[in-house]
Amino acid sequence: MESLLARVSDAVDHTVNTAGPGYLAYIPGGGIYAAALAEFIAASVNRYTGMAAVAPPLVEIELVALRWLASLVGYPDTAQGALLSGGSLANFTAIAAARAAKLGEAQTDAVVYASQETHASVSKALRLAGFRADQYRKIAVDAARRIDLGALDAAIREDLARGRRPFMLVLNVGTTNTGAIDPIEDALALAARHGLWTHADGAYGGFFKLCPEVADRMRGLERCDSITLDPHKGLFLPYGTGCVLVRDGRWLSEAHHEGAAYLRDVSDHAQQLNFADITPELSRDFRGLRVWLPLKLHGVSAFREALSEKLSLARRAYEVLRADDRFEVLGAPELSVVAFRVKGAGDDVQARLLAAVHRRNRVFLSSTALDGRMTLRLCVLCFRTHEDRVDDALTALREEVSGALAG
Ligand SMILES: *Cc1c(COP(=O)(O)O)cnc(C)c1O
Repeated sequence: MESLLARVSDAVDHTVNTAGPGYLAYIPGGGIYAAALAEFIAASVNRYTGMAAVAPPLVEIELVALRWLASLVGYPDTAQGALLSGGSLANFTAIAAARAAKLGEAQTDAVVYASQETHASVSKALRLAGFRADQYRKIAVDAARRIDLGALDAAIREDLARGRRPFMLVLNVGTTNTGAIDPIEDALALAARHGLWTHADGAYGGFFKLCPEVADRMRGLERCDSITLDPHKGLFLPYGTGCVLVRDGRWLSEAHHEGAAYLRDVSDHAQQLNFADITPELSRDFRGLRVWLPLKLHGVSAFREALSEKLSLARRAYEVLRADDRFEVLGAPELSVVAFRVKGAGDDVQARLLAAVHRRNRVFLSSTALDGRMTLRLCVLCFRTHEDRVDDALTALREEVSGALAG
């Protein structure tokens, strides 16, 4: 064992530390101790939680965690949800519920709408669910990278005129590129006029609802038909912890329930729902414990404070970069992502700056393309990231920029 573990340890040393304070790339991961302990316990006892009858108290622990997540977004008691492997599976499951509610078997002419900034997992899920590429319309965004409701309305009318069936609108509650939040309330009004299912992708941004600073912009979230949350992002939990919530939970079972003779002894359990009946999974790991234990242990205020800190760190990065006229910052951060460029410079300069910052081995940033131009991003979401490390990133950027410009 000792030599095998030494090999594992060596392998881990040759990786990007996505749970480290300097990880400011993509969407940072978590990994708090209580959650790791919960995973160890769950794996050790290895109880089955797909069907409630064989582990009622453990399913109850998961249901308690889910009820807390549902109350966080403001959902009523009719809501149901499940912990899945991540946001991708949560988006997929929500699409299945939306189809059950709005289309039944008639999916041929149906159309789904979302902004151009929407995460690729939505288009992947639509493909997997059997929608053709022309059934997914990516709508233009405004200067703040929020869905353009005028363009959305026009697209819906155009589709109606062609005899197609608009049925679902995906809203971003924090885009991956820049953390933009779509105008939820106005979008809901438009969706209601056309009878669309509204799904909020809050994989990155959803948990910021805990923070009073941004609660305003999240208004209406509780009226969306379904929501994706990623506890392995915004709650700092280990990878493999995503969540789908559906306001009227019966659509989850409509979409997923399949009877099977070999499950007859366990399938009827009047008190609790079976996760296997409302998700694509039958066998599953006991994810509930790693949400429940940290929340019980630390209390929700600890998470709220940590998230508020991330908001203010992003704000700080924005202020510093904006004050430096060698940088062009793409708007004030709505959440904890700051997107910026070296002003007036081409992609080669942006790439050289990113490489130079990375060579210092203190922070890890990432890049994206916005309006066809390479754009750097700094995303604060690790619970270990504090002011000192964000300042390291800002110092590195400001010290390396002249070199990057010089070539
Ligand atoms: C990360 C992310 C996803 C995908 O979630 P995974 O947990 O990586 O599968 C979906 N939508 C948004 C907005 C995300 O940031």
